[in-house]
Amino acid sequence: MQTTTRHTATARRGIFSADHELFRTTVRRFIEREILPFHADWEQAGLIPREVWRKAGRAGLLLPMAAAEYGGGGGDFLHTAIVVEEIARVLASGVLGFTTHSDIVAPYLVNFATHEQKLRWLPGLANGDIVSSIAMTEPSAGSDLKAIRTTAERTSEGYRLNGQKTFITNGFHADRVLVVAKTRPEAGAKGMSLLWVDTTTPGFSRGRVLDKIGQRAQDTVELFFDKVLVPLDCLIGDEDKAFGYLMHGLVQERLMIALRCVTHLEAALDWTIQYTKERSTFGKPLIENQYTRFKLAEIKTLAHATRAFVDACLIRHMAGELDAEGAAMAKLWASESTRAIDDLLQMFGGYGFMREYPIGRALTDVRGNRIYGGSSEMMKEIISRTL
Ligand SMILES: Cc1cc2nc3c(=O)[nH]c(=O)nc-3n(C[C@H](O)[C@H](O)[C@H](O)COP(=O)(O)OP(=O)(O)OC[C@H]3O[C@@H](n4cnc5c(N)ncnc54)[C@H](O)[C@@H]3O)c2cc1C
Repeated sequence: MQTTTRHTATARRGIFSADHELFRTTVRRFIEREILPFHADWEQAGLIPREVWRKAGRAGLLLPMAAAEYGGGGGDFLHTAIVVEEIARVLASGVLGFTTHSDIVAPYLVNFATHEQKLRWLPGLANGDIVSSIAMTEPSAGSDLKAIRTTAERTSEGYRLNGQKTFITNGFHADRVLVVAKTRPEAGAKGMSLLWVDTTTPGFSRGRVLDKIGQRAQDTVELFFDKVLVPLDCLIGDEDKAFGYLMHGLVQERLMIALRCVTHLEAALDWTIQYTKERSTFGKPLIENQYTRFKLAEIKTLAHATRAFVDACLIRHMAGELDAEGAAMAKLWASESTRAIDDLLQMFGGYGFMREYPIGRALTDVRGNRIYGGSSEMMKEIISRTL
């Protein structure tokens, strides 16, 4: 079954301009030509080839919203949303890291780096010559970010970085890692900084590619820093201010995850509607059973309501008005809504349990969205602080 059947279940939107839709066509074609034919092999390998990054950069899929002056596409967050959605719609999960790179890492440079730093690195990030990761999580600190143990001691030569990170997206291919480290360990959240680490520096090493239950072509690794010397001009933003920067950046990251989740849900619904029309049991198509139709009707309503809410948050973000609470609600709602994919899979019977059917892969590919970018429990914590 193809993953490209579309839109029978998708709500009308009306947010994107003709220029955005043209960009969507470019992204869609790139994914159909350069990614989908190879994706199953990449899942076996646990990695995408390094060259795919350069091809994506040259095709305009990386940093679509960074200023043209810095090599970016000169677009807006809707261009970013299009890349997120087109990857999600066809379950091209091996390249989820494009959005980590473009829309999580690069914005820290765009928003907090100096003009010289931007000129030095953003063009390489945009054309795919530099692959990037962000490293916050450690084996003993995920949700509780201020409990990280990685330290960066300032010396006259630069920062001496020591520590370990885990679950790092793009970590295998990364040329640069934006590392969150403690520059003033005694100050907790007020003593954390962002260091832009060159992975060819002595003392840096990577662990194995982690064996995940889903998103199997997306490399996720452990990273180790043993007295890595980071030049002083690789500090991004001000020393000790990282926590505030991260709280700012996480708003966009969570909205992006929400967009991804609602797109997965719509796609899974599309595949299931098609399948239940084609598959017959007891002499009639599955969809003619009232139980099946009612379940699909419920999930279609859920998908439309989720899309309406996430798009409202998207519009707020475009206006610079989406706050931490709004982004947390969008992520919580949209990622929890993907639980419905389990009910959709059920309608495929045994075929739903096979990885060659996208619905089977969707179940495991989508699951991580309730964990990373801040878990559902952390989203509830953020929302409950506003009660
Ligand atoms: C596929 C994947 C990719 C990732 N990519 C990156 C990356 O690129 N960079 C990066 O830095 N990190 C990355 N992560 C890490 C991710 O952000 C963390 O896994 C996540 O923040 C949760 O942290 P943890 O795993 O340490 O769980 P923990 O913090 O140990 O939490 C365990 C469970 O307990 C719950 N919990 C914790 N505290 C409370 C509480 N006070 N009340 C109630 N429940 C609580 C959590 O919600 C969770 O369900 C990735 C993870 C995955 C799975």
